[in-house]
Amino acid sequence: MVSPAVHGSPADAATLIRNAGLRVTESRRAVVDALRSHPHSSADAVFRLVVASVPQTSLQSVYNALGDFADAGLVRRIEPAGRPGLFELRVDDNHHHLVCTGCGAVEDVDCSVGHAPCLTPSDAHGFAVHTAEVTYWGLCAACAATAPASVTRSHTTPEQSTEAHEEGRP
Ligand SMILES: [Zn+2]
Ligand SMILES: [Zn+2]
Repeated sequence: MVSPAVHGSPADAATLIRNAGLRVTESRRAVVDALRSHPHSSADAVFRLVVASVPQTSLQSVYNALGDFADAGLVRRIEPAGRPGLFELRVDDNHHHLVCTGCGAVEDVDCSVGHAPCLTPSDAHGFAVHTAEVTYWGLCAACAATAPASVTRSHTTPEQSTEAHEEGRP
């Protein structure tokens, strides 16, 4: 099942994959579509989206596709501390991420100056730096609105930790 083309979409999934020098398969196309509709998804999340449209896809083939895409520069992998690697198709800039410590929401934020030199270390200690990542940690607007002002840092009491976790997803 192929979803209708997004109006104004610059290139379809097959074209992106072909332009990256990779062979187009149904699973790979579904992976690109999943990342387009759900940027910053983990491999497991991508897999769940892909099997919905291409049921015969294996988790391993999704991992392989994401690895191939990353090697080919088609996807960017971000790794916020303590989280699984997240994948996105937005690779052509140096944008950063806001990560919510409450619900895990991830938002793109443009680089302050738009190019990498803002992240050049004052002393690289001899490293040939090729990538710098900035992650802004905090509470998203929805979490901040529901959290008491005192719960801005992760301080859990024993009785809190025994509470059942609520997903609260619509
Ligand atoms: Zn949140
Ligand atoms: Zn991003």
